[in-house]
Amino acid sequence: MIYLDNAATTPVRPEVLEAMLPYLKEEYGNPSGLYLTAVKAKEAVEKARKTIADTLGCEEEEIYFTSGGTESDNWAIKSAVQTAAEQKSEGSNEKEREGETERADLLKNCHIITTQIEHHAVLRTCQALEREGCAVTYLRVNEMGQISLKELEKAIRPETVLFSVMMANNEVGTVQPVKEIGAIARRRHIFFHTDAVQAYGHLPISVKEMNIDMLSASAHKCGGPKGVGFLYVRRGVNLPPFMHGGGQERGRRAGTENVPGIVGFGKAAELAAVQMKQTEKETALMRDHLIRRLLTEIPYARLNGSWKNRLAGNCNISFQFTEGGALLILLDEEGICAAAGSACSTGSKEPSHVLKAMGIPDDIARGTLRLTIGHQNTMEEMDQVVESMKKCVARLRKNAGEYEDFRNHMPG
Ligand code: PLP
Repeated sequence: MIYLDNAATTPVRPEVLEAMLPYLKEEYGNPSGLYLTAVKAKEAVEKARKTIADTLGCEEEEIYFTSGGTESDNWAIKSAVQTAAEQKSEGSNEKEREGETERADLLKNCHIITTQIEHHAVLRTCQALEREGCAVTYLRVNEMGQISLKELEKAIRPETVLFSVMMANNEVGTVQPVKEIGAIARRRHIFFHTDAVQAYGHLPISVKEMNIDMLSASAHKCGGPKGVGFLYVRRGVNLPPFMHGGGQERGRRAGTENVPGIVGFGKAAELAAVQMKQTEKETALMRDHLIRRLLTEIPYARLNGSWKNRLAGNCNISFQFTEGGALLILLDEEGICAAAGSACSTGSKEPSHVLKAMGIPDDIARGTLRLTIGHQNTMEEMDQVVESMKKCVARLRKNAGEYEDFRNHMPG
């Protein structure tokens, strides 16, 4: 099997599994307990928190463990809007009703700026808030998948309380100018949340230098286990809890800690930080080799997104006169795992919202494959994938009347 769907999830690294095992076996205590095995579990959680905080240049107290990227995105966006709305209402007496302000009234005075190419964890959260009366601007992107800082500034209103802009896109790998966005947010006193689920462990991040107030990440995108993530919340941003219950995570995220998962995330974060430079360099070499060969050896293939400004492991290519879903099935027969769009929209016939936002025509977007490379892949695998791809694309085009018509009408 050749696994090229690392943006959907990555294999758990052997060292990560090794680190997790004791917490699934003998050290199974609940970190809230007071006896030895519980204390050991608690210490392991705190060690992971410190490791992760160091990778971002922040304090341990600013890291809150969650169940993954989706929960972190939901928490950041919904709670930041709530906080900002309450802060605004404190400064305006007319909005107060006998000391208590209705949520609907609060939300009516809030505006979020996000982008058209966010993951559904962000998009659908913003849409849910919109249904409650909050205003949302979904910024356009250019053909490379980047937002314009000028448009971001222009979109700011007096009621704007939050920017939520992803660090790197999960489909086309485009990296956004996060530092510049953070500078604007700080200058204009607007909260800045970034979904760094695809970037964390792959790109260097400094939350201070980038002026990030909240950052979401997920372990399974960087060699850790599924079902665990974190939300970085800058000290001073008083996010109300999202999960109510016990007093875990300093009272802000209730629920017994996923100790093995958190320990695994800590180990994955540590490995990623130490090996990032080398791994990302090698991954980018594989990516460039794969892209170059696919574009030169398969006619009517086009790269989506930017050559330069993309995640090291991302290759997103459209093969005209094919259908992404059908290509996936043929590739699966060849033992190759890939994706047609984002994992979450697999099975949907609709072209991806990201490619649509980048202005790629539907008929081209439909024949799109996302091949995402990880540290475990090899250059030989890239060559095998190109050979298989040539066969699969040719097979599909042989049966595509559209392709025949096109070739028959070609001059000469
Ligand atoms: N945000 C982005 C950019 C993602 O790529 C994903 C997962 O694919 C998520 C959020 C959701 O993360 P999780 O699977 O941990 O809920």
